Amino acid sequence: FSTDTLALILKCVNFAAVKHKNQRRLDVDETPYINHPIGVAYILTSEAYVQDPDVLLAALLHDTVEDTDTTFEEIEFHFGETVRKIVQEVTDDKSLPKMERKRLQIVHAATSSFKAKLVKLADKLYNLRDLQQALPKGWSEERRREYFIWSKKVVDNLRGTNQALENALDIVFKQEEIYY
Ligand code: NDP
Ligand code: ZN
Repeated sequence: FSTDTLALILKCVNFAAVKHKNQRRLDVDETPYINHPIGVAYILTSEAYVQDPDVLLAALLHDTVEDTDTTFEEIEFHFGETVRKIVQEVTDDKSLPKMERKRLQIVHAATSSFKAKLVKLADKLYNLRDLQQALPKGWSEERRREYFIWSKKVVDNLRGTNQALENALDIVFKQEEIYY
């Protein structure tokens, strides 16, 4: 990384932290939401050896538009067109019903760009490991299992992207006995 790139990544961490400041994860401890996008970016550097700044910036920003008042215009202004496009690819359309959004994630996974697939794989890996740690407030065992089954359908359409991430996800699916 150049010093400019490092400064941009820290600008991005700060931007995401401010945007997600009032949000919490679903776990019983109500972990600050920002732990998730930072953790997704860290999976990309530490496990997938991703060094592309645009992918790491998009990972840090991947839930800002979906879950906060952030706009794609804002992301493009601060972090550029490539990052905006990746974030756009991994953002659900919140005007659609939940079930339709879940179906579209499976469909869109197959045709998304290489950079968006990397973010998606790391996002799924983080969330599934989170679910392995503890059941979110109000979730039944059945809902947890349904989530793993749906996630495998998304992941199966992201394959051929990064072997380390796909192997790590396969370990999780095996631990959870998800075979289809
Ligand atoms: P949700 O989409 O409601 O929640 C899962 C998402 O929450 C993850 O994708 C992740 O998204 C985020 N998240 C926050 N904290 C955690 C955490 N600690 N561990 C894992 N993920 C976390 O869940 P479902 O997909 O199950 O729900 C889909 C729809 O189905 C909803 O309308 C729900 O109410 C309904 N439903 C489903 C049931 C079932 O059995 N499947 C039962 C009851 C209702 P991100 O990466 O964006 O943070
Ligand atoms: Zn996410």
